[in-house]
Amino acid sequence: MNKNSSNTMALAPNTSNKRQTVCIFGTGDFGRALGHKMIQSGYHVVFGSRSTQTSSLIPKDAEVLSHAEAAQKAAIIIIAIQRQHYNFLTPLAEILQGKVLVDVSNNLKINQYPESNAEYLAQLVPGAKVVKAFNTVSAWALQSGTLDASRQVFVCGDDMEAKQMVMDIARALGLTPLDRGSLLAAQEIENYPLQLFPMWKFPILLSLGLTAFFFFYCLIRDVIYPYVYENKDFSFFIAISIPNRICPILALILLALVYLPGVLAAIIQLYRGTKYRRFPDWLDKWMLCRKQLGLVALAFASLHVLYTLVIPIRSFVRWRISSRTIALALNNETEPLNTTNAWLSDSYLALGILGFFLFVLLGITSLPSVSNNVNWREFRFVQSKLGYLTLILCTAHTLVYGGNRFLSPSSYRWYLPNAYMLALIVPCIVLVVKFVLVFPCLDKPLTQIRQGWERNPQYSE
Ligand code: NAP
Repeated sequence: MNKNSSNTMALAPNTSNKRQTVCIFGTGDFGRALGHKMIQSGYHVVFGSRSTQTSSLIPKDAEVLSHAEAAQKAAIIIIAIQRQHYNFLTPLAEILQGKVLVDVSNNLKINQYPESNAEYLAQLVPGAKVVKAFNTVSAWALQSGTLDASRQVFVCGDDMEAKQMVMDIARALGLTPLDRGSLLAAQEIENYPLQLFPMWKFPILLSLGLTAFFFFYCLIRDVIYPYVYENKDFSFFIAISIPNRICPILALILLALVYLPGVLAAIIQLYRGTKYRRFPDWLDKWMLCRKQLGLVALAFASLHVLYTLVIPIRSFVRWRISSRTIALALNNETEPLNTTNAWLSDSYLALGILGFFLFVLLGITSLPSVSNNVNWREFRFVQSKLGYLTLILCTAHTLVYGGNRFLSPSSYRWYLPNAYMLALIVPCIVLVVKFVLVFPCLDKPLTQIRQGWERNPQYSE
């Protein structure tokens, strides 16, 4: 069974509901799409509308009546009308007494009103049983049948029986109802479709900021500096060389930022001596988007691999090799093989290849279809142990790439170190702190704290 749907009611659709009459208020896009799908699923649909004239857009097996007439024909009424028009329901309060009113509405902004639309509906028609449902499904998906990505329907309401009836309809339409509890959950359900990649915002903004910073940093060092001091035009570096510097730098920094919040959380827990106090909000949010940070890091690492593959066919690289060879020939010189350099170069490539392989493995195991098939321990092993190994390999790849150039004054331009040196700061901090935390004098109390032990229980919140 899908872990995410643990609260899905596993009951089969109530077949006795077939040919049940369902009323839909509103013949707009959503009302029509839902009505069409319901007729396909065997329901009898009555529309309640301001105009009782049928049109070619309305499903042909449906009736169109006035709101009052339509409401009398069904026990369930779906309100496919925007919240701002709900007050037309007040004069119908008597007819709607005891009926199940399904609120499908969405808002334009998160927390647009003080109370949810479903709660507002319940206040307007106190005698009705209000259920929130179907707002996460779009009219287009219902009509075109492309419901694969949006099969889940969050349902909430205070009346269990009413909620059950709505969940039966959802199942009959081929949807997966998820019981979210009482009507208090309606606000959250209404906010859900308005969120725009909530977990991706921080990783994407951070990578854009870092990309801009490193782009200008490399531009100053690698293009402007040689132009000013040597009158050399290296502006073509913007196409491949600079992106191929930025990509590994961002991959490494973002990968380190996946593990930094865990290290900070460990320090906070050790300091407080308990795990029962909430982390600061910023740390909670950071921890929640670690997977997205890791996937963005993987994207940068993959780009680095692609950029590296084209190095041998670059005109500049071929020119540099041939001019060096010609210069040696003209001067009748030979260049003996430098075994140290060969070792450094091969080791740095090998570390990069292994690091990238583990990086891809981490990315694959974070996909829901894969992570659903491993248990919690296996998932933690891959994401934590292999994750740290990836970070070590990628940091070592960068360190060996630097080789003996780290301390060479010629590698500084306008006192600016090479960009990869900056990239090493966060990963080295993470690895050093993690290394310290592994010492038994810290690891043991931390493990005990994570198992529920508290140093000063009276101070925990
Ligand atoms: P729509 O195309 O604008 O239709 C709304 C309908 O409300 C109208 O066709 C009209 O039906 C009725 N109406 C308008 N003004 C009214 C008034 N003053 N008094 C009474 N009824 C009035 O909107 P929609 O896209 O179908 O959306 C309807 C509801 O479904 C909204 O709350 C929306 O948030 C929700 N929803 C929509 C989608 C979607 O993909 N469109 C998805 C999920 C949820 P009559 O002319 O028949 O009276």
